[in-house]
Amino acid sequence: MALTGIQIFKMLPKTNCGECGVPTCLAFAMNLAAGKAELDSCPYVSDESREKLSEASAPPIRPVAFGYGDTAVKTGGETVLFRHEKTFFNPCPFAGTIKDTDEDIAEKVKTWEKFQWERVGVNLRPELAFVKCESGDAAKFEAAAKAVVENSSFSLILGCEDPEIMAPVVTAVADTKPLIYAVTNANADKMAPIGAENGCPLVVKGVDMDEVMELTTELSEAGYKDLVIDTGARDFAGVFEDQVAVRRAALMAQNRALGFPTIAFASEMGETVGEQVLAGGMLVAKYAGIVVMGDLTAESIFPLLLERLNIYTDPQRPMTVTEGIYEIGGPGVDSPVAITTNFSLTYFIVSGEMEGSRVPSWLLIKDTEGLSVMTAWAAGKFSGDDVGMFVKKIGIEDKINHKALIIPGYAAAIAGDVEEELPGWNIQIGPREAAHLAKFLKEWAPDK
Ligand code: SF4
Repeated sequence: MALTGIQIFKMLPKTNCGECGVPTCLAFAMNLAAGKAELDSCPYVSDESREKLSEASAPPIRPVAFGYGDTAVKTGGETVLFRHEKTFFNPCPFAGTIKDTDEDIAEKVKTWEKFQWERVGVNLRPELAFVKCESGDAAKFEAAAKAVVENSSFSLILGCEDPEIMAPVVTAVADTKPLIYAVTNANADKMAPIGAENGCPLVVKGVDMDEVMELTTELSEAGYKDLVIDTGARDFAGVFEDQVAVRRAALMAQNRALGFPTIAFASEMGETVGEQVLAGGMLVAKYAGIVVMGDLTAESIFPLLLERLNIYTDPQRPMTVTEGIYEIGGPGVDSPVAITTNFSLTYFIVSGEMEGSRVPSWLLIKDTEGLSVMTAWAAGKFSGDDVGMFVKKIGIEDKINHKALIIPGYAAAIAGDVEEELPGWNIQIGPREAAHLAKFLKEWAPDK
């Protein structure tokens, strides 16, 4: 059961030393209760209190990490039912399915590897391959898992319910930290230890929620903490109901037996690609911790990746880029200098147009807390004084042999104030639309 801030406070040292990053033990206790702080931030909690607090302050849905390299993932760790209450933290990874009887595994994963798109500075891609043992042959299963690892960067979910087949394959690819699918009522005594021996998390699969809860309780008591849940449902309505029920039980009833991320199989919820994409879309929106698709195609996975990007973006914080000087196309001392805000969409549109112009340029990005030019100007975060002081502070003068600064057309009103703050500079008003920037840069001169 979760503790209140006051209950937590009673177990803290009450010295108000501030080493945890907040000035008082009470503030730390409140943050801990709200899931905004880590217990480890206080070095002075007694062992007895630590034990009690670790359990009570653990996130209601345990975060589970697996995989390796660029596709290592963390799923779970969510703290709210609705995204607008705070945010969702760990985007659900997507898996494509490989059967160990497939003839063209290397070619298939090489093709999947190309399904990567850059959007607002984020690399969108499927991360996982669900390698399924259909052959009943450990050697074939191992060869399939190794073919994925050797020909792609996908992390693995290994799918087989026979511990005799699973054990040698997990050992063979243990350094990639695969997720083991699945522990069931029938194989738990032999399958679960494979996870422990190789440091790999386990999927717990039941025929229904009751069986899942029995299994997760038994495994948790036996010391297995990193678990993922498969409730066994495969029909659309059943999967939807289960996903919602698991999330509600974990967050609202603090049901520890269901306090784990889920895995769901869009691949088994429809015959056609269209049906599976529809299922995948529902699962992204409604709480799946991992979504397993069938074969992957660019047109089926791309919309799901975009949906995921949107759902897992913090609704209370605009996406931003870091304040600073950005070099576009290798600029030199006589290259134009433009300035805009750190709203990531603004940055990517402006930098994209600058790149497209093929005119090497400097782009100054000013922190406006993620506001676009118009909004930042209206909110006083892109005023003439601010922009002028920022240009002085950022040190662009040391990199150029002129004193010309292009400000966004939408912020033309600040030109006079910038000039006052930057005596001797030529403040040039750029186009209002980024689409006209290429022409502007091609015709640019410092004294224009
Ligand atoms: S570090 Fe610990 S003792 Fe110090 S203020 Fe924070 S909670 Fe209190």
